[in-house]
Amino acid sequence: MRNSSDYDAIIVGAGPTGLAAALAVAQSDLRVALIAAPHNPAATGADTRTAALFKNSLTLLSNIGAWTACEPASAPLNAIRLIDDTGALLRAPEVVFQASEIGHDLFGYNVPQQALVAALRQAAAGFGHGLTVIESAGAQDIAVDADRASLTLAEGQTLTTQLIIGADGRRSICRHAAGIATASHTYNQAALACTFKHAVPHHGISTEFHRRAGPMTTVPMPGRASSLIWVEHPDVAHRLASISAADFLHTLEDNLQGLLGKLSDLGPRVVFPLSMMSSESMGRNRIALVGEAAHVAPPIGAQGLNLSFRDIATLADILHTAKLEKQDLGSDDLLRRYDNARHGDVNSRARAVDLLNYSLTSQLIPVQLLRGAGVHALKALSPLRRRIMAAGLAPAGDPPPLMREADTRDATFASRRTTL
Ligand SMILES: Cc1cc2nc3c(=O)[nH]c(=O)nc-3n(C[C@H](O)[C@H](O)[C@H](O)COP(=O)(O)OP(=O)(O)OC[C@H]3O[C@@H](n4cnc5c(N)ncnc54)[C@H](O)[C@@H]3O)c2cc1C
Repeated sequence: MRNSSDYDAIIVGAGPTGLAAALAVAQSDLRVALIAAPHNPAATGADTRTAALFKNSLTLLSNIGAWTACEPASAPLNAIRLIDDTGALLRAPEVVFQASEIGHDLFGYNVPQQALVAALRQAAAGFGHGLTVIESAGAQDIAVDADRASLTLAEGQTLTTQLIIGADGRRSICRHAAGIATASHTYNQAALACTFKHAVPHHGISTEFHRRAGPMTTVPMPGRASSLIWVEHPDVAHRLASISAADFLHTLEDNLQGLLGKLSDLGPRVVFPLSMMSSESMGRNRIALVGEAAHVAPPIGAQGLNLSFRDIATLADILHTAKLEKQDLGSDDLLRRYDNARHGDVNSRARAVDLLNYSLTSQLIPVQLLRGAGVHALKALSPLRRRIMAAGLAPAGDPPPLMREADTRDATFASRRTTL
């Protein structure tokens, strides 16, 4: 007889990645527990970030029953505009990427992260038998042996499982318990995130100003409103967060060069320090890593959570097959397959984001010239532009089943699909 504290998989962390992972994995009729510690990513207040989520991520959200609740707070992204405001010797031309150029009606949606987490929480609470949400101060200790892993909660209870899925963010204790090393660095940059309203409509266009201190990006929200990610030197970002709302809106209006007209209704401003982190492996010793437990990148090109959702869909697919074939869900072979499947996507995007950030902030004239020439080429050459757009949204090839529309997915996987 199976012990009530024994699970097929235990997910640690109830941020967007952990919640989505729990819902995705539980669809395969596995006995899953989610360890939900209080989620407070913006230590200084509410999470003011939004996430630009591309089509495959939205399909995943739909397939795990969370999209309907997110949609009213979210806005479609039809186009992305780049404006060179670096003052470089070779000024890059303005470039607009239209989703229609690659045959899509839209690139994705801009989703407030608080609404996303609330929708995922609601879906997890309504999932029913198969997914147990354990409210806890957190996982405190993890031990692994040849055929099981055990996890002790801060409250003292011990749970056992075949596989632990670490979705516990950048200071992951799961990653530590697995003995997975990381490479990381902190940028001398921070991102101020907030929302505001404006007089001129955004027409579904996200605008990225390339500036010396880092990008400043407006992303559409419903109505005449946008979210803002303004990357600056940390001192400047904190000063911008502390000046009066009127002064901030005035400064922002100047920096947006009249693009959105008169600004108003500034929401709370929160500053996020920027760093880069990559793990030498995505899984080992009965522990698989997803999301920021495995990789952290600056908010350029909206890669972070989109990558995390691809981690989840890939891992859920591997676990689904392992369950059907009655394999050990935490075996070295399974974790190696997961690492192989995710390694290239995660590392290539981390390198691209780092390089783009470097090309903006570099004082080196050859680097500035190369970036300018690259944007000129993007503007002039439609096939190149189309290739870059498609690559920015997703890797080549078929997405994992949970990122496909229901009618193109394997019927058994679709059988646990919750309400859309
Ligand atoms: C300014 C900014 C803008 C961004 N914009 C975008 C965007 O447009 N598009 C995009 O795709 N990405 C974007 N990102 C990235 C995205 O926000 C992150 O990738 C995402 O929030 C990370 O989610 P996560 O669940 O992996 O980690 P976290 O949000 O850090 O969640 C980890 C969770 O684990 C919990 N936890 C930690 N330790 C334990 C423990 N011992 N036991 C139990 N629980 C534990 C924590 O309490 C937390 O709830 C942006 C990031 C920033 C900084």
